[in-house]
Amino acid sequence: MNAVNFRITPKAGKTIKVEDQVYRLIGSAPYAKAEGELSVILTWESQCAECGETFTTTSALITKYLTRRCKKHRKAGRPVTQKSKHRRPLHV
Ligand SMILES: [Zn+2]
Repeated sequence: MNAVNFRITPKAGKTIKVEDQVYRLIGSAPYAKAEGELSVILTWESQCAECGETFTTTSALITKYLTRRCKKHRKAGRPVTQKSKHRRPLHV
């Protein structure tokens, strides 16, 4: 199921609910796809699932996934890049 699925651009102020998280549309802007086809980018405002802070995210008219966290917590679930084992000690 798509989190966002619109055939026409919704008006600003429209709210949607995705798995208990509420998103409010604050704006939309036309954008041209690589194939030259015109599409629309929607800007949503929501509260971070982690800390409750307001953040904004963008999506197309139809998308399967919307970001659920603010910038700070967005990478929380991702694996942390391991530092190189062969890191040379710094000689001062
Ligand atoms: Zn957060």
